[in-house]
Amino acid sequence: MKVFVVNAGSSSLKYQLIDMDNEQVLAKGLCERIGVTGAITHKAADGRVYKADTDMPTHSEAFEAVVYAMTKSEAKVIDSLDEVSAIGHRVVHGAEEFNKSALITDAMIAKVKECSVMAPLHNPANILGIEACTKTFGDKIPQVGVFDTSFHQTMPASAYIYALPYEYYEKYRVRKYGFHGTSHSFVSDRAAALEGKDKKDLKIITCHLGNGCSISAIKDGVCVDTSMGFTPLDGFMMGTRCGTLDPSTLTYIAEKEGLTFADVDSICNKKSGVLGVSGVSNDNRDVAAAAAEGNERAKLAIDMQRYQILKFVGSYVAAMNGVDSIVFTGGIGENDEELREYICENLAYLGVKLNKEANRVHGDEIKISTDDSKVNVWIIPTNEELKIARDTKAIVEAL
Ligand code: ADP
Repeated sequence: MKVFVVNAGSSSLKYQLIDMDNEQVLAKGLCERIGVTGAITHKAADGRVYKADTDMPTHSEAFEAVVYAMTKSEAKVIDSLDEVSAIGHRVVHGAEEFNKSALITDAMIAKVKECSVMAPLHNPANILGIEACTKTFGDKIPQVGVFDTSFHQTMPASAYIYALPYEYYEKYRVRKYGFHGTSHSFVSDRAAALEGKDKKDLKIITCHLGNGCSISAIKDGVCVDTSMGFTPLDGFMMGTRCGTLDPSTLTYIAEKEGLTFADVDSICNKKSGVLGVSGVSNDNRDVAAAAAEGNERAKLAIDMQRYQILKFVGSYVAAMNGVDSIVFTGGIGENDEELREYICENLAYLGVKLNKEANRVHGDEIKISTDDSKVNVWIIPTNEELKIARDTKAIVEAL
């Protein structure tokens, strides 16, 4: 069974075609500048590449370019769309409506639209992707929505209710939702498989550290807490996002500087975090280089980020009354050996022992704790597309 995986943004479209008989990626690609000009880069697994500047006024033209790339271009991988059995879409926000991936129907799209108020940048783009796909692939092919939020729907109310007047939860569903669920789910499944254990028997902490960062606590096979909240702004500091802070700082600064809600939102999401503190960049590599050259604010930003990550990991050890496995994933998690060393050394009280040689590995799946460590620590590259394809296959096969 070949599954087409779609991650539609407002002006971009990432896709993969995966052969689910052997879970091999047949082709992957990216359409950019949709609505402005339009360009596609398509790569077949054997190294052939097709690139073109093509007019893409809407997502429909982008999908037409993808179909051409997959079936007709010099990097084609299938003869016709009939070979594609199902389509899996990343959908960012499923709120409380979706606690698992689901077949896309008109009723489902209507619910996803309702969730758009909570993800105004993402959900409308995801819907555009679904609707344009239906136009291009026809309405006979089954399509599945896989939500970033659904993995976290197992959290208990004590973890997801904010200590605000309860009526805001009742009226507006203001609560912690959590994001990156597809990644947390994928890497925790993988950790259990690597350890040869049932996930239900493990307490796992998964650290997804990329441009956006979140940490999850997984116990009895399900998510019991996660660092992101009502939006992906919550948790600890990220490339440009501030993470948790005293809410009064925002009202104070807004009053001093005459800022609107939109200004505050933009400052917290786009100008804070590692970028805001360092003044150098949102990219950890640039900031680490500046710190190495003696830039004090760059050093502070890195120290703060590591400290905040450590505190989240520690709090989830407390939340689960222990931890068996810790997983690092995402661009920073998979590559930043100093960060991993800092976290592991500060968890020595739990019996965590780092294998420093293994920790030097970049981007590969590897255990970085020693054999006598009381906690297994892993680097597991995430693969959200494969998780989307697996869910899609399972749902479509059960139809
Ligand atoms: P996204 O969340 O957009 O998918 P990634 O998972 O690719 O992002 O992570 C991007 C982050 O990974 C950047 O901050 C980048 O600096 C960091 N990163 C990538 N390679 C390295 C490296 N070798 N050392 C430290 N950080 C790295």
